[in-house]
Amino acid sequence: MLIGALEAGGTKMVCSIGTPQGGVLQRASFPTLTPETTVPQIVEFIGKFDVAALGIGSFGPLDLNPQSPTYGSITASPKTEWCNYPLLRVLKEELGVPAAIDTDVNAAALAEYKMGAGTGLSSLLYVTVGTGIGGGLVIGGQMVHGLVHPELGHMILSPLESDPMPDGICPFHRHCLEGLACGPAIEKRWGLSAKLMSEDHPAWEMEATYLAQMCVNAMMTVSPEIIVLGGGVMQQMHLFPRIREKTLALLGGYVSSQRITPDGISGYIVPPALGVNSGVTGALLLGAQALEAQEA
Ligand code: ADP
Ligand code: ZN
Repeated sequence: MLIGALEAGGTKMVCSIGTPQGGVLQRASFPTLTPETTVPQIVEFIGKFDVAALGIGSFGPLDLNPQSPTYGSITASPKTEWCNYPLLRVLKEELGVPAAIDTDVNAAALAEYKMGAGTGLSSLLYVTVGTGIGGGLVIGGQMVHGLVHPELGHMILSPLESDPMPDGICPFHRHCLEGLACGPAIEKRWGLSAKLMSEDHPAWEMEATYLAQMCVNAMMTVSPEIIVLGGGVMQQMHLFPRIREKTLALLGGYVSSQRITPDGISGYIVPPALGVNSGVTGALLLGAQALEAQEA
């Protein structure tokens, strides 16, 4: 049986064909232009295969309230052509199969929870640090939506005195996590491509401090059993030991758990076990869930 998966991103739409268990067989990618141009390309590619269901992990914000008349629409996106676009409804109708949608980060969190770093645990926080910063949370097997859905990237942090750009770059908030620590913020602050910065560049200590503040805030709020950090910026693997150390320092010994010790924390703040495939695996699992829900 085949499942279709769409990873809907601000720059590209990655379509995959895979199995209900998350294995990927085929993939195609289209630039995110307007819905009129891009959606037919998605439908044409996925429509070539006999998929039984579709799972979508999308950039947001999204309407994820199943009772809402605009359920499955992109809401107030900075990508204006996609504002209020009913992505779930259109793809469901065009492809004629059951479909499910969630945020890209909730999908990745689901995959890491079921098949990756969170296997055997009962909660997991997945945070991507890339062009933006987003967090997906799974508790007891369920992706957390809440009132709208978590927007962990916009939690307000304490900027460092040594930060030459202490307000960050978010157009909505001063010194929120995304505004201070996403890839474009690093590049604007230091005037250099993040990929080209050496490991001893002061950017990384600052980056680690902000991500450690996020880890502490998340631990104090939902106490996840594991924190998975992915996305382009986290390709800088030297960030992991720095974030762990700064998280412990900020916690000041307050959380008593074997996992939150100098030895234990290397298994608590971790890279994605599924590597770059967390998102696609999560979208396939969402598709499989949509099929199960229809058959139930
Ligand atoms: P997106 O968030 O657009 O899905 P990515 O997660 O790859 O994609 O994030 C892209 C951002 O991550 C860019 O702003 C870039 O600065 C940063 N980035 C990508 N690769 C690296 C790297 N190897 N080291 C540091 N930063 C990186
Ligand atoms: Zn913000």
